[in-house]
Amino acid sequence: MAQRQSVNVVPCPCCKGELYRTTPIDTRGVGALAMGSPHIQSDERGPFMICPRCYKRVVLISDRTTAGAGFKLSDDQPCISP
Ligand SMILES: [Zn+2]
Repeated sequence: MAQRQSVNVVPCPCCKGELYRTTPIDTRGVGALAMGSPHIQSDERGPFMICPRCYKRVVLISDRTTAGAGFKLSDDQPCISP
């Protein structure tokens, strides 16, 4: 019953808590945001998600080369409120 998949847990850069998970969904090894992950939002400053733990704005960068959801966390995280 227990299915062991290679789920990646991505920590929040602000509070170090679990921000989201990615999980493999197809045979090409392309993953996706796991269920329960925060929604990716976007405004004039670009894509971001709100950390479910510390409620900071986590800055994302669009990245088609990242296996998963097509984005990665920015290296520059001001950890501001949204
Ligand atoms: Zn956080």
